[in-house]
Amino acid sequence: MNCPECGALDNLCQTRFDEFLVLEFTDTGYGAVHHLTVATFMVQHSSKMTREGWLYERELLKEFLIENKPPQLVRKQMKDTVDSGKRKFKIKSRDGLPVINKTTWTKTILDVRTENAEVYCEDINAWARSVLEETQ
Ligand SMILES: [Zn+2]
Repeated sequence: MNCPECGALDNLCQTRFDEFLVLEFTDTGYGAVHHLTVATFMVQHSSKMTREGWLYERELLKEFLIENKPPQLVRKQMKDTVDSGKRKFKIKSRDGLPVINKTTWTKTILDVRTENAEVYCEDINAWARSVLEETQ
């Protein structure tokens, strides 16, 4: 079965995402785009989130890609919102229903090459940009 949300063959997206996280945590060259990997995957898999959570992740993508803010700065600015004690909304979905009804995308996580950190970062960026554009 293909992923009902991003359309990836045989639901390989989740496996790939888990592998990427390991890669990013073990190699700083790959880890440079960690913030993009997570936000992009979440925006493309909206059933994992509440509507507010989805909008929040998408806003993060915009800040990284359009406003070119460094991840550390964004994290600091968003700290009040993200701090679970202060946050006014839930990020994690409770009903598991997708926020957006989009199943066809130009790029998915399966389009990201992993041969070396350079192509990896380039492809994560391209994937993130296409997802942001297609959810405008
Ligand atoms: Zn998927």
